[in-house]
Amino acid sequence: MNLVSIVVPVYNEQDNIEFFYREVLKYMDPLPYQLEIIFVDDGSRDATPLILDRLAREDSRVRALILARNFGHQVALSCGLDHADGNSVITMDGDMQHPPEMLPQLLAKWEEGFEVVQTIRISTEGVSWLKSFTSSLFYRLINVMSNVRVQEGGSDFRLLDKKVVESFRRFNERARFIRGLVSAIGYRQVTMEFIAPKRFAGSSKFSVKKMLHFALDGITAFSKLPLRISFYLGLVFALASFGLLVHVLYIKLLTDEAVPGWATLSASILLLGGLQLLFMGVIGEYVGRIFEEVKQRPLYLIREEFNQCKAKK
Ligand code: UDP
Ligand code: MG
Repeated sequence: MNLVSIVVPVYNEQDNIEFFYREVLKYMDPLPYQLEIIFVDDGSRDATPLILDRLAREDSRVRALILARNFGHQVALSCGLDHADGNSVITMDGDMQHPPEMLPQLLAKWEEGFEVVQTIRISTEGVSWLKSFTSSLFYRLINVMSNVRVQEGGSDFRLLDKKVVESFRRFNERARFIRGLVSAIGYRQVTMEFIAPKRFAGSSKFSVKKMLHFALDGITAFSKLPLRISFYLGLVFALASFGLLVHVLYIKLLTDEAVPGWATLSASILLLGGLQLLFMGVIGEYVGRIFEEVKQRPLYLIREEFNQCKAKK
């Protein structure tokens, strides 16, 4: 019988886990699969690890990896994928925003032969207009700037075949934008739409700062365009300054007028100085990311494991 792994990163989700676990069983138990649920505790400071410990004692299908600190959602997901043993692996959030009732549909697509079943969130109940606006802006930006296609509303609720998980494990980068990686990885993919309900309990763990970092990770991981813009801008300014030079020479050599333009001079120095600093910042961003990558630090550290996972990277 095929084994299905469900990977769930959780960060301070004490009021969600039990309900989530019961809902997953409600939809998975009738299906003809063996099951393992791998919770990755991303450095929670509430009772999450205690609840996971208890669940793991009660049910041997529940495994839990307790990370040494908060490593972030994408890293916690990767940790779960590294340890999942299933013939197919489903990743989902533990707050009920990725509806467990869709599990049978994802698995049905897998049975049809698809190796990646990607869900697309067409809307989220009760989300602020600011979050949906910035999110849609981000997807437009990343699609214009990079050569991977990431569909708007792409979520980390997806099914991956074992083969895809094994390929995914070979991507070693630290700053991870899993949606982009999965889209770039190929294989037979299919998408499925859903409406994300409100969180069951608690509040979103993504602060504005975390969202910004996430967006930057996505863009810098898949696009060199920010680095190239300075080249194109430089080209434009070089051409413009050549035009200006011709104009100055014309006035100097062929007329009696004095060459005007102190204001132009200071304005252009300010503009160019500003642009240079701006693009030094852009280069710095990429250099910083290279620095992070070359250190080759471990992606995550596991403090404790309940019901040892079989698969290891
Ligand atoms: N999460 C995590 N580490 C983090 C932030 C979030 O493991 O640093 C988990 C969180 O517990 C949840 C999932 O990732 O299961 C999605 O987070 P959240 O619901 O806060 O994001 P949102 O749905 O608001 O985008
Ligand atoms: Mg959520």
